[in-house]
Amino acid sequence: MSRKVRADIHLGAIVQNYRLARAQAPGARAVAVVKANAYGHGAVQVARALAVEADAFGVACIEEALELREAGLTQPVVLLEGFFDADELPVIAQEGFWPAVHSEHQLEMLEQVELPAPIPVWLKVDTGMHRLGFEPEAVPAMVARLRACETVADILLMTHFACSDEPGHGMTEVQLARFGRLADELGLDASLSNSAAVMAWPEAHHQWLRPGVMLYGATPFEEPNPVADQLQAAMTLSSEIIAVREVPAGEAVGYGATFSCDRPHRIGTVAMGYGDGYPRHARTGTPVIVAGQRTRLVGRVSMDMLTVDLTDLPQAGVGSRVELWGRQLAVSEVARWCDTIPYTLLTCLTPRVPRCYD
Ligand code: PLP
Repeated sequence: MSRKVRADIHLGAIVQNYRLARAQAPGARAVAVVKANAYGHGAVQVARALAVEADAFGVACIEEALELREAGLTQPVVLLEGFFDADELPVIAQEGFWPAVHSEHQLEMLEQVELPAPIPVWLKVDTGMHRLGFEPEAVPAMVARLRACETVADILLMTHFACSDEPGHGMTEVQLARFGRLADELGLDASLSNSAAVMAWPEAHHQWLRPGVMLYGATPFEEPNPVADQLQAAMTLSSEIIAVREVPAGEAVGYGATFSCDRPHRIGTVAMGYGDGYPRHARTGTPVIVAGQRTRLVGRVSMDMLTVDLTDLPQAGVGSRVELWGRQLAVSEVARWCDTIPYTLLTCLTPRVPRCYD
C-alpha cells in the first residue's frame, strides 16, 4: 500500500457494543442498525461479525437488505423506511424482510397485492418527529386494516425520537406520553429506542431496541453518560506525515491562508483530506494524534492533505503515524470541532479509504 490512509474496523468492539446495548434491557431483543454501509464500517462485514447474536438487522431500503442476503446472512432485516413500490413486496415476502409501514399509500399497496406468504410489518407511529408515520389516534384503525390484510402477518408498533440525545429535553416525555399504552391496548410488541434511548430512557425499551451509532462506539450525547463511557471505538482512521517544514512567523499555511503563524511553526503535512471523507470544515484546533501525542489541525483541509502543528512534537517527522479519530481520539470529539455529529463523519468516509478488519 503506497498512501497510508486506512480505517481499521474493530469488529470485536462492535460485538461488545451490541452486547452493551442489549444488557441495558434484559429480555428485549435488538435490531443492529447497519444502514448506510453500517455507518461507513462495511455492512456485510459488520453483519457477519454480529451474525451469531443479532436478533435482526436494520437498513434503510431493500437494496441494503438484499446486500446482506447475497452475503449469506439469514436474520430478519427491518426496512426502516419501508417500501416505495408494490414491486418490492414479493421480494420482501420471499426474503423475510420486515418493512416499516408509515403511510396510507403503503397500506393500500398491502391491501391490493397478492403475496406468496404474509409479511410481518412495523407500523410507524408519528409521536412528534413529524417525518414518517400515523398519528397515535389513527393507529387502532390502521391496525384493524392491517389485521384484515391476508398479506400481513405479525404487526409491531414503532416510533422514533427527535431529541432522545438531549436527556433534559421535554420532547422525549411528550413522545412517550403520546405513544402511551397504545401497544399494550392493541396487544402488540413495540420498538422505540435508538442508541440514546437505549442508554438514557429505560421507559422506552419495550420489546425491541434499535441501536445504531452506539454499535460503532460513538456517543450521541454531548454530555458524559455512564453507558456511553463504556463504548469501545469501532473505527480508527489513520494516515502518516508525508512532509515537514519550518514556517517562519508571519507566513500562512494552506488554502485561503486562514492560519497565520504568530511565531515560527513546525508544520506537518498529512495524507488525508476531504476526498477521503475527513471534514473540510474542521477548524484550526481540531485535535489529531501524531506519534501518540495530541496536537492540532491548522489551516484548511484540502482534498488529499491536511496540515498539523508539530511545533511542540520534535520527535514527530515524515512517516509518523497520525490518528484522525479512533481509540486515542473519540470521533464525537472531532465531530464537535467540526460543528457536526459523529454520524456524518463515519458515514461520509469515502471508498478511497481502505477498510481493514481486525
Ligand atoms: N431507528 C431508526 C428508525 C433510525 O432511523 C435510526 C437511525 O437514524 C436508528 C433507529 C438508529 O439510531 P442511532 O444511530 O441514533 O442509534
